[in-house]
Amino acid sequence: MAEEVKKVTITENTESAEIDEEIEETDEYVESPERTEFRRKRVKRIKLILVLLLIIFLIIPNILCGILLYQLNKTNKDMEILREEIKISKEEIERKNREAAAAAQAQQEKEEKEAQYGVENLVQLNLTDEEKYPGKQLVYLTFDDGPSKYTNEILDILEEHDAKATFFVLAKEGFDDEYNRIIDDGHTLAMHSYTHKYSVIYASMENYREDIYSLSDFLTEKTGVKPKFYRFPGGSSNTISKIGIQDMLHFLGEEGIVHFDWNVSSEDAVPRMLEASTIVKNVVNGIGDKKESVVLMHDSAAKRSTVEALPIIIETLQMKGNVVFLPITDGTEQVYHVREKVSEKESETKETANEKTPVIQSNEIESEEMESDVTKAVEEAVSEAFSEEVAEALSEAEKLKEDAKSVETDNIESSDNEEDN
Ligand code: ZN
Repeated sequence: MAEEVKKVTITENTESAEIDEEIEETDEYVESPERTEFRRKRVKRIKLILVLLLIIFLIIPNILCGILLYQLNKTNKDMEILREEIKISKEEIERKNREAAAAAQAQQEKEEKEAQYGVENLVQLNLTDEEKYPGKQLVYLTFDDGPSKYTNEILDILEEHDAKATFFVLAKEGFDDEYNRIIDDGHTLAMHSYTHKYSVIYASMENYREDIYSLSDFLTEKTGVKPKFYRFPGGSSNTISKIGIQDMLHFLGEEGIVHFDWNVSSEDAVPRMLEASTIVKNVVNGIGDKKESVVLMHDSAAKRSTVEALPIIIETLQMKGNVVFLPITDGTEQVYHVREKVSEKESETKETANEKTPVIQSNEIESEEMESDVTKAVEEAVSEAFSEEVAEALSEAEKLKEDAKSVETDNIESSDNEEDN
């Protein structure tokens, strides 16, 4: 700006000098003072116009340029911000699209599975009881030989305590409501025996198959549900059977039937009725800290004290805070005394099993007083002196000593005798 003013001044000086020269050149004639004044004024006007023109043509464009540059700069910055925002928006949209696609896919998979398995079963799909109830003590209360006149009372107690159980039942007429209520209440209706006559069931493989088929058909007809779970009369380790246990297990496997023994016994099977307090003690102590307990009890007209013991058992265990009472299902880990062998030793085992003569249908067992499995087995054998198979029982007592070493204390469902029918 200062430079421009200087320039203007220089130009002015140059012009004045020219005018002066002009005056000097025309010095010959004398100019009138009016004319001189007029010329001066004219020069001044021209100077003023020139200055104004300079201002208009040099300064204003510069200012405008400045303003434009500023605006341009500002616009550029705004555009930069916008570009950044667009970029972020694009990323956001892409991310949201990806999320939406993933969600849609998950929803589709869920719908497909729901259609396949049903909504309710989806949550429970393929989970074991242990996975469903991590850290809990799993207790499976099981009742053999029912239904009886106490079945409804047992079901009431279970319902009141929000506990589930399994009923290994016989085929009895007049108990249609009980069979159905067991299922409707969420318990498991399982097979025990059609006749419950040991001498018949275990006389031949044909008889054994017939017993199971008859019971399965009977229960399916009564309830519309085909039973899957089974308990051997006398347990899988019974010594009554004349047929090999492996043959029976093989048959069950072919039929898709899963057998369950027990690892806790209420001992309520003994012929004389136990005190309810004794049954409570047997069960609660038997469960102890076991992670999984399958408890043997009986639903029988002769077992009133079991019904009396039941609410006390449940309440005592519930007080521990980490016990759940579940029905036996596909998610339950199998508890067995003997299971199917598929090795080359199978034939050998069959022979051994066949050698076992039908001796034991033990009677009075004072389990509390017994200190070892061996003693128990011997006493059981001796107690058979009161049965019809006296001689055989005594001759087998020694043999039993050996056997008993490998057999659990409660391997014989003592009162599964024919009178229970
Ligand atoms: Zn039984």
